[in-house]
Amino acid sequence: MEKIKMNTPLVEMDGDEMTRILWRMVKDELLLPYVDLKTEYYDLGLKSRNETGDQITVDAANATKKYGVAVKCATITPNVARMSEYDLKEMYKSPNGTIRAILDGTVFRAPIVVKGIEPCVKNWKKPITLARHAYGDVYRNTEFYVDKPGDAYLVFKADDGEERSSRIQRFEGCGVVQGMHNLSDSIFSFARSCFNYALDTKQDVWFGSKDTISKTYDGKFKEIFQQVYENEFKEKMDAAGLVYFYSLIDDIVARVMKSEGGFIWACKNYDGDVMSDMVSSAFGSLAMMTSVLVSPNGYYEYEAAHGTVQRHYYRHLEGKETSTNSIATIFAWTGALRKRGELDGNTELSAFADRLEKAVVDTVENGKMTKDLALITTLENVQVLNSRDFILAVKENL
Ligand code: NAP
Ligand code: MG
Repeated sequence: MEKIKMNTPLVEMDGDEMTRILWRMVKDELLLPYVDLKTEYYDLGLKSRNETGDQITVDAANATKKYGVAVKCATITPNVARMSEYDLKEMYKSPNGTIRAILDGTVFRAPIVVKGIEPCVKNWKKPITLARHAYGDVYRNTEFYVDKPGDAYLVFKADDGEERSSRIQRFEGCGVVQGMHNLSDSIFSFARSCFNYALDTKQDVWFGSKDTISKTYDGKFKEIFQQVYENEFKEKMDAAGLVYFYSLIDDIVARVMKSEGGFIWACKNYDGDVMSDMVSSAFGSLAMMTSVLVSPNGYYEYEAAHGTVQRHYYRHLEGKETSTNSIATIFAWTGALRKRGELDGNTELSAFADRLEKAVVDTVENGKMTKDLALITTLENVQVLNSRDFILAVKENL
């Protein structure tokens, strides 16, 4: 069989531990035999990040700006334990954080829906894509403890000398106080990413905030979304038959639970943090979730939503069998290949991505799966496969 050609390279970011092992297997068994794979390879494994003083992560993000599409393996975010395990020169920042800071984007996460792995919310028939704004609010706050009577103020000192201040609270006793912020530019790019992704995936956009209570802060989010929608996207959304729906966050939550799914749920940072864990666990498992960072400039970075599965890796190192789910890793590759195909007008490549995804879904629906899914499936008489045999079963179907 002749291999499918690629015109432009993908940026390939390799990673750590068990996912690095899966990465190799997926490439060897499911990609290289069928696609004349062109990638610009960056090793973001912790050893290589340490050797380059983390320059490799910056280079990989910049390469993504050059080529437009990247696929990333899960990576270790160093903590104290990793300092000695990998003999690190410093406690490097999260690679995802570094990449997001360079590409400036929104993270979209959607469950991979398979028969036999049913959402616990019975009326959810289609996936819900969660779009989380990844800047500011409580994640960049300043807060402190008040331990005596006094007045807490919010103060803004402009560079031109103007000063504005407003009393938050008169404290008669102990308490807590917090200040936080967001940036209009960041909210604009969040809104644009959501509407672009909606057009891309042909889904409606739902957005909720608490603008009745937070008239200025949340009100700004509502206003910017409305402005971006009307000025830049309404015509295109209308033409595609798509809707933008805004409501209060509590109303949105209630409607999400009663919906059929099949839309993009744009969330402020904190809402997205909390609600993405709810949505993902309701749909089954983190290993059944796609994740893509979409930048407002049209760069795409695909990854798995889970980590490096450290516990399985240590078993693997001891020579024991593992049953690690490679589906999210495979879907990171298919997402990137399909996008590459779309951007290059390479329909063969996009069609290959579709076939590979179908092969994965068929494998699970035929009762062949890794242990994590076997524990939650409604299918009977399933066959539990090890990490490699699952990939080989997908290959058989492909
Ligand atoms: P994790 O890798 O997500 O794994 C946590 C647990 O979830 C696993 O022990 C396993 O449960 C289950 N699990 C996750 N993915 C699975 C898969 N594909 N197949 C089967 N089971 C799966 O989180 P972690 O072990 O807490 O973190 C390990 C490393 O990942 C950390 O160094 C962290 O910094 C990094 N991390 C990276 C990313 C990223 O690059 N995007 C994201 C999160 C974490 P059982 O052990 O019960 O089987
Ligand atoms: Mg969370």
